[in-house]
Amino acid sequence: MARTFFIGGNFKLNGSKKSIAEIVDRLNKAALDVNSEVVICPPAAYLDSTVQAVTSKQVSVGAQNVYVKASGAYTGENSVDQIKDLGAKWTILGHSERREYFKETDQFVAEKTKFALDNGVSVILCIGESLEEKKAGQTLAVVEKQLTAVIAEVKDWTNVVIAYEPIWAIGTGLAATAEDAEEIHASIRKFLASKLGDKVAEEIRILYGGSANGANVASFKDKKNVDGFLVGGASLKPEFVDIINSRK
Ligand code: PEP
Repeated sequence: MARTFFIGGNFKLNGSKKSIAEIVDRLNKAALDVNSEVVICPPAAYLDSTVQAVTSKQVSVGAQNVYVKASGAYTGENSVDQIKDLGAKWTILGHSERREYFKETDQFVAEKTKFALDNGVSVILCIGESLEEKKAGQTLAVVEKQLTAVIAEVKDWTNVVIAYEPIWAIGTGLAATAEDAEEIHASIRKFLASKLGDKVAEEIRILYGGSANGANVASFKDKKNVDGFLVGGASLKPEFVDIINSRK
């Protein structure tokens, strides 16, 4: 089964009304590969204007995080109902920056994933190991533990995309090699098959994230378990279009 190539753009806490409008304008005007599905995730403050500005049918908008409640006394949080109300369809969850700086546990990420999915928001679920864990040979143990927490909560994985993002590669300019990413993605898929069955494992998209850019994505082209990219820094730049078009 062919999995649709998926590119997520994580703007993180970057941009302004003007610069994000320029990024969206560039995407609207570009000849994007019709076989690529694109989800851009601006800061929450710009979700509304981003949704309003997107004209390309293959570009959707997502949040970078949501909470486990849709409303109430939860100061500072993002609501699934409110992001849906704005027209956003996706959210990133479990990004390593949230796990590290905001102390999000595997269990909390799992609960948020379930809540988002139950409320009609699709999820880009981030997993990945630190440099220390990589050096200790724990990569698979770490990602399997992260996934196990979500597997315990989520039964239907149709609206989940997994982003394998080794923490040591995020924002460092040191991307994993395509060969290493392929090997880990294949292991993740095998693990998912053992827990969720062959069909789910075969259909789910597994993205690579970590210093992906316009120059290095071509090396992933023939990697059959790399179904796209979650892109941070380069999603703010013109080369994001090259990444979207890298399977053309
Ligand atoms: C990310 O933040 O998800 C990411 C992959 O960042 P970068 O592409 O900048 O490494």
